[in-house]
Amino acid sequence: MAFSEPEFKPSKRRLSPMSIDITRTKDPSTAAQILSQDRTAYILGGGTGLMRRIHEGDQNVRHLVRINNLEMSEIVRLGTAIRIGSQVTMTQIMKDPYLLVLHTAAASVGAPALRNMATVGGNLFSQPPYGDITTALLSLEAQVVFMNGNRQEQQALDAFLKQTGARRLVLAIELPNSSNKTFVYHKMTRTHPRGASLITLAATFKYSAGRLSHCRIAFGGLAGRPLRAFSAERVLTGSLTVAKIDAACASLKQSIEPYSDALASGWYRMEMAQLHLRRVITKLI
Ligand SMILES: Cc1cc2nc3c(=O)[nH]c(=O)nc-3n(C[C@H](O)[C@H](O)[C@H](O)COP(=O)(O)OP(=O)(O)OC[C@H]3O[C@@H](n4cnc5c(N)ncnc54)[C@H](O)[C@@H]3O)c2cc1C
Repeated sequence: MAFSEPEFKPSKRRLSPMSIDITRTKDPSTAAQILSQDRTAYILGGGTGLMRRIHEGDQNVRHLVRINNLEMSEIVRLGTAIRIGSQVTMTQIMKDPYLLVLHTAAASVGAPALRNMATVGGNLFSQPPYGDITTALLSLEAQVVFMNGNRQEQQALDAFLKQTGARRLVLAIELPNSSNKTFVYHKMTRTHPRGASLITLAATFKYSAGRLSHCRIAFGGLAGRPLRAFSAERVLTGSLTVAKIDAACASLKQSIEPYSDALASGWYRMEMAQLHLRRVITKLI
């Protein structure tokens, strides 16, 4: 039997070469101004997410803004709180003795080469299944310091994340002192020791004599962005009983509708979220 090569037909679809402007500045106000005026402009952090978008041919990214500003790359103690510049990398966090609470979460982001590049600021804007350090910061009630046009503002991280579409420049994250609380972080992945999150659970508690006086629970990998489980927090706060743990797990199902993707179905994600929450709380009792 004779085989013949299929006829080569050049595609009629023309790929236009993509040009990208690059602005370098030391001044965050200039960067914020560009961001608010040019909808194709994006802040370049470590580029682990943004460069991937460009390489995949995302035509919406036409202008990269790189900020060389010392304050945005530093970790500074402000009394009992800690200010983490938005360009601080996961590796920097892991090396800082005052940020012990975030070491496990930072270490769970990708592999060492990625952690040398990946910034906290970039993590806030990562699409699911990413956003691990953001999940930890949510449960620790971090505040975001950002520029909206020429105004500097500060907002709780949860409120900040809700405003999707707003083009804001993140300057820093402020982390309140959590030394009198118990912090737990669970990341569930298909591949070990690390991989993309199926679900990430971060929680901060204050528990004594059968009572939970402080309870902040955040999940990553369940929805389009990391979020707080407010209903579960409300149920659990106060005297802690098995019935309350059951009710808190049930409340997750009522308030969150997880997405399905190639890693896991929404059903499986919810089962895992409930299982991990139950484990974490039961260990307190
Ligand atoms: C192989 C691989 C594995 C990964 N694994 C993980 C993982 O395990 N966990 C995880 O959470 N993530 C993971 N990621 C996603 C990503 O690396 C991280 O979320 C990282 O923190 C993104 O930071 P970046 O500095 O690289 O962001 P960039 O790619 O530079 O930017 C991402 C987005 O944030 C915006 N941005 C960046 N800085 C600012 C700022 N200061 N103000 C306003 N907007 C800003 C950019 O414009 C862009 O839209 C992975 C990515 C890859 C490629």
